[in-house]
Amino acid sequence: IYILGIESSCDDTSASVLKNNEILSNVTANQEVHSKYGGVVPELASRAHQQNIVPVVQQALVQANIKKEELSAIAFTKGPGLMGSLLVGTSFAKSLAMGLEIPLLDVNHMQAHILAHFIKNDTSKIPPFPFICLTISGGHTQIVKVSNYFDFEILGETIDDAVGEAFDKSAKILGLPYPGGPLIDKYAQKGNPKAYKFSKPKVGDLDFSFSGLKTGILYFIQREQKNNPNFIKENLFDICASIQHTISEILMDKLKNTVKQTQIKHIAIAGGVSANSEIRKRLQLTEKHFGWTTYIPKFEYTTDNAAMIAITGYYKYINKHYSNVSVTAKARLKVTE
Ligand code: ATP
Ligand code: FE
Repeated sequence: IYILGIESSCDDTSASVLKNNEILSNVTANQEVHSKYGGVVPELASRAHQQNIVPVVQQALVQANIKKEELSAIAFTKGPGLMGSLLVGTSFAKSLAMGLEIPLLDVNHMQAHILAHFIKNDTSKIPPFPFICLTISGGHTQIVKVSNYFDFEILGETIDDAVGEAFDKSAKILGLPYPGGPLIDKYAQKGNPKAYKFSKPKVGDLDFSFSGLKTGILYFIQREQKNNPNFIKENLFDICASIQHTISEILMDKLKNTVKQTQIKHIAIAGGVSANSEIRKRLQLTEKHFGWTTYIPKFEYTTDNAAMIAITGYYKYINKHYSNVSVTAKARLKVTE
């Protein structure tokens, strides 16, 4: 079975070819245009997708060394995401599937972040059902119980900002370019994580809140900068390490609560923020300390990519969950839909 996956929900245009559960190619065009605006500009994103989609798909087929006539089905991101961006992928996937007379598979982007764990891989293990997935991305922060490929239950989630936003907004306060998450990670490696203390939010057992943390960081920086205009410059590494440490602590506390409540000790992380080195390291340590089995995605399957769309499409295909050509993009879509 050969599945072509297409991802265009936000600012990355990506295409991937899978042979069964094995990756043959995974090609992504990142959009540089947004960095100078400090965030993704929807209009520019959809225009860039239009320019990128044909070459990216072509490149994915070339790298996989197959012709489009050999494809078994086409999987695409139906949502959630930016409407204009989703529409580019949706209409492209529909026309290609119609032209080739093969099944079309609509994929939920949040399910795909999780199911990326099922891509065949010689280094990491594949989680058994049921397992817990902490999905941490640019738009979501959720604890999900995964009982089967298409059986998801949200046990807890953020009541305001996503953890990716917490990273990006903190980075913005520090004057770093968008997206700042990876830069905080990079600078944190040279800093002291206990240099500054930020208070952790008080919310329900398995829920999250990050807007207070962001405000706390903003006030702290404003105060210190008033005393010393070079405060950020002189202490950047320590500030980044302390922010990252606080966020990691919050996430780990919630995972401990989840294990206590569910007794499930197979724990995965997914989404762009699961690329973070401290979060990965701390999760790994729980194997030794608490006897959890952890599932940490390969770096290239953390942020948005089409391989995760293709693997989700693969499970839909073998279960004959085909889409109708009347399927439409949905900007808002829960992981359970
Ligand atoms: P969603 O999947 O919720 O729709 P999205 O697709 O925009 O949102 P992803 O691509 O999964 O989000 O993740 C992007 C986020 O991951 C950004 O906020 C980015 O800053 C963050 N991120 C990426 N790498 C790191 C890192 N090493 N440390 C911290 N954050 C990171
Ligand atoms: Fe995403």
